[in-house]
This record gives sequence, C-alpha cells and structure tokens, in this order.
Amino acid sequence: MLIDTHTHLGQLRHNDPGLTVEQLVQRMDAHGIDRAVVLAVENPEELDYYVPSWQVLEWCARRPDRLIPFCACDPRHRYPGQFDPYPVLRRYVEAGARGFGENLCGLPIDDPLQRRVYDACAILGLPVLLHIDHHINRDGPGLPGLERLLHDYPGISFIGHAQYFWREISANPEPGVSYPKGPVQPGGRVEELLSRYPNLMADLSAGSAHNALSRDPEHALGFLERQHGKILFATDVLAMSQELPIVPLFRDLPLSPEARAAIAWGNATRLLRL
Ligand SMILES: [Zn+2]
Repeated sequence: MLIDTHTHLGQLRHNDPGLTVEQLVQRMDAHGIDRAVVLAVENPEELDYYVPSWQVLEWCARRPDRLIPFCACDPRHRYPGQFDPYPVLRRYVEAGARGFGENLCGLPIDDPLQRRVYDACAILGLPVLLHIDHHINRDGPGLPGLERLLHDYPGISFIGHAQYFWREISANPEPGVSYPKGPVQPGGRVEELLSRYPNLMADLSAGSAHNALSRDPEHALGFLERQHGKILFATDVLAMSQELPIVPLFRDLPLSPEARAAIAWGNATRLLRL
C-alpha cells in the first residue's frame, strides 16, 4: 500500500497542460501508488494558473477510490481585514476536502492574514500543507515563524515541504542556497522541530526532499527511522513527462518494515482519517 500525499491536477504552467484525472491515475498505477492527495492552487506566486478548490473537489469525485481532495484559499481576499476564510473553507470541507493546501502564499509564514486561515483550519480540523521557500511562506533562518505556528496551533498538523523547509535538515544551511549539497551537519532544525512538536509532519515530495535524502544517504536512513511517525511519502507529480526519483529512492532504502509502512501509508491514513 502506498499513499502519495502531494499531487496536482490541471494546467499550472503555460508550457505544460498538466494532468487529467485519467493521466494522474495512470501515473499512480505505473508507480504502484494506491491513493493520492490532490492539492488546490489558489495563490498566484509559484505558478501561472490557479487550480481552484471547487475544481479539485469535482475532479476527485470522479475517482473517490483513488483521489483525496484538499482545498485552499488566498488570505489576501477582500479589503484588508474583511476576509473570513471560515465559511469558505467550511463549504469545501462539507464537499469532502480533507486538508488545506497547498499553501503557496507569498507572505511571511505567520503573517496575521495567514493566521486567520489557520484559525479556520483549527476549527475545521484540517491539516495544513506548507510550501516554504525564499518568498513563499517566508521565514527566518532556523524557521522561527514555523515554530511559532507549531506552538500556537497545537490542534493543527502542519506538513513541511519545499526548499527552505528541507535545507534545514542540516544545521546552519548556507544563506540563499535552496538545494545544499554534501553531508548533513548534525543539529538541523527539521529534526529538532519534528522531535519537539507532535503537530509537525514532513512530506517527501519534489526535488527538495529528494535532495535532503540523497545528499547524505546514511543520514537519510537514520533520519527516516527516527522520525518515521512524522514523514509522509509524496511525489509532487504535476506533469506526464516528470520523473519521480523519490519512488525508487524510497523503494531501495533498507528501512525497517515498521518505518516503511508508516511512511508509505500509516501516517497518511491516520492524518487524513482514511
Ligand atoms: Zn506541489
């Protein structure tokens, strides 16, 4: 059993049509993936187009046996201070959404506007998937803003993803470097935060997580064994031509059966109440 907690449907980039429902399921079949979380894109920063929550819900409803919808909203809607995300998100939850994401908002990670969204997610019991880089959900070195969220929202499971999350697998990452190379230095903030906060999880999707593991395979094995209750298998698949190197990397790691099962499907099943 394998659950992918980070995928996309629809056109996101001007030069690629993205995936249809049938194509995503085809790619899942080819890689032995049983079920997948499909993320909404409602922030303008990372990509060329939106894939709104209602569209994700409609697409996932065609294959409820395989696809699990998330919803999203941009905290900057309406005049400053006028937007209430709660009724918006509640409608998506009533229609079947299981989480909030992908948060791709170009604001500080714990901006007051973002906190209004997290307030709604806390009430609705939605886990929150955070893309963290130099611009999106930006934070200081060592992720102090993320730690404030973990402290202030003990009822929300935050899922860490992307370059400026995973670079912190190593202590004191070089400023401005998205994909640091070489051995992981002990004392990285990712492991410290995962150990300290039960409400932090991390997904293995995209080049960022792959780099964090492949830069130091020995560290990767120990890290995944120690943190296996907090890690989610994921790809970030969004195109037909995209390679998914995390699939063979995860398959070939000599993990204990317990850690493998937790990362492959156990943690996602618990988190998403499947
Ligand atoms: Zn993504």
